[in-house]
Amino acid sequence: MAHLKPNSIIGILGGGQLGRMTAIAAAQLGYKVHVYTCEEESPTAHIAYKTTVADYLDEESLEQFAKEVALVSFEFENIPYKTLEILEKYTKVAPSSKIIKICQNRLREKDFINSQGIKTAPYMVVSNKKDLEKAIAKIAVPCVLKTSEMGYDGKGQVKIDAKDQISDISIEQECVLEGFVEFTKEISVIVARNEQGEIKAYHPVENIHKNHILDETIAPAIISPKLELEAVEIAIELAKGLELIGVLAVEMFVTKDGLLVNELAPRPHNSGHYTIDACVTSQFEQFVRAICGLPLGSVNQHTKAVMKNLIGEEVNDIEKYIAEPDAKIHLYGKTHARKGRKMGHVTRLNA
Ligand code: AMP
Repeated sequence: MAHLKPNSIIGILGGGQLGRMTAIAAAQLGYKVHVYTCEEESPTAHIAYKTTVADYLDEESLEQFAKEVALVSFEFENIPYKTLEILEKYTKVAPSSKIIKICQNRLREKDFINSQGIKTAPYMVVSNKKDLEKAIAKIAVPCVLKTSEMGYDGKGQVKIDAKDQISDISIEQECVLEGFVEFTKEISVIVARNEQGEIKAYHPVENIHKNHILDETIAPAIISPKLELEAVEIAIELAKGLELIGVLAVEMFVTKDGLLVNELAPRPHNSGHYTIDACVTSQFEQFVRAICGLPLGSVNQHTKAVMKNLIGEEVNDIEKYIAEPDAKIHLYGKTHARKGRKMGHVTRLNA
């Protein structure tokens, strides 16, 4: 495939910070971003060449959008599947709707991971209380009940420590019950693949969560070379298995018995933000390269880094970071510092 010519327009669904940082990287490579979002005011719109504000199921707006862009990608995976099917009628969508279908549903995602011979925590589908009782009997406590769809940053999740908690739980949608994993570390690997089949994976990084939200990423993760290799191999296998065109983040638990995959995200990921300042090619540039058919850039990390998310009121700590010469600050242009909202991040180099 010939790669996309400079000045072409890339369509991005979703107007959050991931779209914003993608639009910056796209601009550097000479592309323009047309963002499609349902929000009037969005971080990506501040940077984008053009913005469409419309519902994700508004067929007329989707058709118009698809006809104005060279290809469509997305910056979050909870887009209605139907949206991508509509867009695919008019233009190229990468990663494909097939990948979204797998990654936006925890059950399909875990089934897929296991089908590739890669391990996850034990899990069972739960659609009602009876299923829950059966699943707890099999998986045992402690365990975690998660909604199959629309869960992120710990939303739609409940930890079950004792069987008598069942009476307090109401099940309103399909869920997955999974065994609670006694992990020693949480790590992730970001892998990119383009249409030509070229694949590159960044080194694993360690992720530290606070209140279920990513707080810090330590890059690179301090793990054995053997685990590092295994983690990268898992990410590459999954990218190949999905026939990915784009980037994929693979979140894993390090346990005493090896690695278990927790979750996949077929888009740039919060744990890859450090790549902007610490790697030869940022995950956002790599994403643009992958979807536009360009050769992938080097994933080499030239500087050690710790990325700290600025969540809610933490954005006020900016004064402190601004005085640090090796701290690289990224704010997302959001005006209201609501609790749990990702307002920006700081990458501390050589930390
Ligand atoms: P998730 O939304 O699945 O990424 O979960 C958010 C966070 O909750 C993870 O990063 C873990 O810190 C924790 N968590 C999720 N699932 C499990 C599990 N099965 N065992 C232990 N901790 C978990």
